[in-house]
Amino acid sequence: MKITRIDLYERDLPYSGGTYHLSKGRTYTSFGGTFVRLTTDTGLQGWGESTPFGSTYVAAHTRGVRPVIEELAPLLLGRDPRQVDRVNDLMDTALLGHNFAKAPIDIACWDLLGKALEMPVCELLGGATGVPMPTISSIHAGDPEEMRARVADHRARGYRGHSVKIGAADSEGGPALDAERIVACLADRRPGEYFLVDANAGLSPESALRLFSVLPDGLDFVLESPCPTWRETLTVRKRSPYPIILDELVQNDDDLVHAIQTDAADGFGLKVTPAGGLTPGRRQRDIARAAGLTVSVQDTVGSDVAFAAIVHLAATVPPHLLRCVLKTSDMVTLTTARFEPSERDGGVLPPALPGLGIEVDEEVLGAPVMSWSL
Ligand SMILES: [Mg+2]
Repeated sequence: MKITRIDLYERDLPYSGGTYHLSKGRTYTSFGGTFVRLTTDTGLQGWGESTPFGSTYVAAHTRGVRPVIEELAPLLLGRDPRQVDRVNDLMDTALLGHNFAKAPIDIACWDLLGKALEMPVCELLGGATGVPMPTISSIHAGDPEEMRARVADHRARGYRGHSVKIGAADSEGGPALDAERIVACLADRRPGEYFLVDANAGLSPESALRLFSVLPDGLDFVLESPCPTWRETLTVRKRSPYPIILDELVQNDDDLVHAIQTDAADGFGLKVTPAGGLTPGRRQRDIARAAGLTVSVQDTVGSDVAFAAIVHLAATVPPHLLRCVLKTSDMVTLTTARFEPSERDGGVLPPALPGLGIEVDEEVLGAPVMSWSL
């Protein structure tokens, strides 16, 4: 099997909740999505997506995707997409870093591998556990009672995990407001629910320690990404009564190894596109497993194509280590593909269809903005 054509699509994906508020005053109303379609000499086609969360979240930005693919596309034509590790080696040799832009190519290769073998991607990643995976909501920062209402709304829609965003500047209310937000969001907790309090690297060690001192005792949550740097995170880690989960600081394999080496965390958010796709994602899954870290499989954001990749990888994480999956497609208003994971016991399971099990709606994506062919 050979890649004979590569098409690149760009589509802006409006946020489904109006304006998304994150720590440090960051706001988002839409996300720029890039979609890659690989066509092969067999006629089979594979799809992948990369949708960064703006340009102020991690070192990934929408307008950075296209130039990377322009650089790599000529090298990929003629290659066998089923050799996923070799395709990644080729991309990494030709261009350092920029994993978020390599990811849609890698994901499309996995889609093709699954279609070629008539097997779901999760089976090729090691086999689905068959245990329904809880989905996690993304509760952007705001008024505490309004955040509590959004948790309740997601609970009613079947979400069993909740990612509560904090990181108020002192001028907005500081640690006292963040404490109120946490207490409000946990107030109606149901048995079995998982709460992740996510500062998105927006706290200083000082503000994190002040937050700990004003929170009431006995709250069951994990603290995600308190600070932007390793030094700050490690000092908070030493003094935190709450388990620490890393997200923005861990993107590539080396970051994860460093987190384990320094005992910086108890778990991490495995984000598929910042990692570079399913091939590095599979590797990070195994490194985390060896170290006993819990994992939430996520992405920065994205539509149905991104969610499909999340579901297939997450389905292969041992259930005692898998916390949640992020249903990225609920965060945007457009449906880019038909993807129907089955739902059971409040969780999702990958569909038993070849590849990612998606049917892309090309009308939504529009015409390709760039194409390459043999
Ligand atoms: Mg996070």
